[in-house]
Parts: sequence; structure tokens; C-alpha cells
Amino acid sequence: MSAKNIDWSELGFGYIQTEKRFVANFKDGKWDEGGIVDDANIVLNECAGVLQYAQTVFEGLKAYTTADGNVVTFRPDLNADRLITSCERLQIPVVPKEMFLRAVEEVVKANIDYVPPYGSGATLYIRPYVFGTNPVIGVKPADEYQFRVFVTPVGPYFKGGAKPITIRVCDYDRAAPHGTGHIKAGLNYAMSLYQIVDAHNNGFDENMYLDAATRTYVEETGGANFLFVTKDNKIVTPKSNSILPSITRRSLMVVAEKYLGLEVEHRPVAFEEVKDFAECGLCGTAAVISPVGKIYNHGEEICFPSGMDEMGPITKKLYETLTGIQMGRIEAPEGWIHKIK
Ligand SMILES: *Cc1c(COP(=O)(O)O)cnc(C)c1O
Repeated sequence: MSAKNIDWSELGFGYIQTEKRFVANFKDGKWDEGGIVDDANIVLNECAGVLQYAQTVFEGLKAYTTADGNVVTFRPDLNADRLITSCERLQIPVVPKEMFLRAVEEVVKANIDYVPPYGSGATLYIRPYVFGTNPVIGVKPADEYQFRVFVTPVGPYFKGGAKPITIRVCDYDRAAPHGTGHIKAGLNYAMSLYQIVDAHNNGFDENMYLDAATRTYVEETGGANFLFVTKDNKIVTPKSNSILPSITRRSLMVVAEKYLGLEVEHRPVAFEEVKDFAECGLCGTAAVISPVGKIYNHGEEICFPSGMDEMGPITKKLYETLTGIQMGRIEAPEGWIHKIK
């Protein structure tokens, strides 16, 4: 779709093909320079490693227009670092940080007309990913890979304000101890699809996963970290080796401490404690924070005092401060905002 024909206010969270993408290939033991290409399609051998054994990892971040008209990304260096961790775990040759940052910058510049204007609530979602391309039939890592970055404009996550959601404690597990829960791999999502469809069929917005070993500690949802607020306004976020380290959650912890003067605890959180918290939210790039109003657990309900009508007061302050920093209305910590244009 031509950027000229996009009604920013009508955008949802879906794929809209833009004009340019970045592609680099790994062959004979090294990455090529990579560059911008036109073709949105990929031709792969039927036996490509990614198709047989799911050898692929990804990232997600956004570019957007700030109050003073710059086009920026938020902490892309952390996405580059996390992609390296993900690559290492799946025996994928790491995407050099320099190439990651250059690719993000080039692809945003090449699609600059698709960056939604300030105030529209829409953003340009950036999807970097790597996958094994050569034929692999015996179980082993591929020898050749492609790193690709495309962008797609997405609408405001909350149209007409953030309404609290209802989630349920899930009977399936997301990630094993010592497994792959801490990396951003497609495989962690493939096996969550059954649960999310089932949650929706039963009237829930999301699944809360507990730790697989004891089912007594809070982990995360399929794609967002938890953040809780205690009755005395302390911020508590669950800690576990099988939780994906959300950049939004890590940034909110800094905002809570340094901007709002709140005490922050990053520690294991027993499910038993959840009923005593005052507020609950889900943190991720897409929504920043989605407020949770209710948690359903096998016939019992935990209803947070903040209710089902609006975000709790602390969640709201966190949300407004972080989005203010991202949009250039509030001064950002050193290095958080990467200016592209
Ligand atoms: C991407 C992701 C998140 C959110 O991470 P952000 O860096 O904040 O976007 C949380 N949990 C899982 C499982 C994820 O894949």
C-alpha cells in the first residue's frame, strides 16, 4: 500500500507491505554487508533449516515521530544485544551489533513516508529476524542464514483509551527451566498458539504462565512481562531465568525509580502474593503497558482495586512518563532515544 493512502487513525496491528526492506546473508562463515532491497518475498529451498527445525529468532521495536518532528527509535542497542543472545542459544551466527543498528536505520530511512505523524498514536513497527536458509535434514544448525528487517505501520494499541483486560492462569507451560524462555524465538510462540486461541474462545484476553517446575511463581504472558504495584506503591516485577527480558519492563523499572521516586523490586513473585497487589500491567513494545483488571484462576477471581474501567493510578503514571520520554515530551535518560531523522 502506498503511504499516501494510509489513514493513520484507522490502522490496526496488522502487516502492511511497505516499499523497502534490509537483507543480509551469511555464507561461507561470514555475513555480507547487506543492503536495502525491494522484494518482499523470499524463495527458499523446501528443506531450509528454518522450515524443518524452526531455527529462527526475531526482535521487535518501533520508530515514531516525536513532538519536535524527529523520527526516532527507542533503545535499539538493547534489541541488538538481545538478538545476539537469542542467536547464540539457537546456534545461529550472531548478527553483529553494528549491522543490526545500521539495518534498522536504513530500513526506516528507506520507508520514511510510512512513519506515522506525531499525535496519531500510530507507529512504524520494525521486525528484524534471522533464519537458517540452506537444506538441513539431519538435525544440526544450518550453514547459511538470512537476516532481514522489514517495517509495517501499526495503529495505536488502545483505540479510545486503555481498557483493563482479563487474563487467566494457564494450565500449559510457556517455557521450561533451563529452556528457551529467555530468548525471542518463534518456537516459543508456535507452542503458545493453542493456549491463546483457547483463552480467547473462553473469553480471556491473555494467559498468565506460571513457572513450569513448581507452578507457584508468576512468569509472564505469551508476549509481555508482568509489572505489579503493591498497596504501598512499590513496583514488583517477576524474576526468572525463563522470562524474556522485556526492554519496556526494564525501562519502566528505571522510570519508576528515577522519575517517580518509587521503590522497585525485581524478584521471584509467588502467585499467592498476586491477590495482595493493587495494580497489575503487562509490559511490551506493542502496548507499553496493558492494564490487567482481573485474573481468573480455576473458578477463583482476583480483581484488582483499580477495576475494569481504567488503568490504576501508578500504572498510568508509569505509562505517561515512559510514552512522554519516547515521544520527546519528557527528557530521556542518556542514550535511550536514537535519532534517525
Ligand atoms: C518481546 C517479548 C516481550 C516484550 O519485550 P519488549 O522488549 O518490551 O518488547 C515480553 N515477553 C515475550 C515472551 C516477548 O517475546
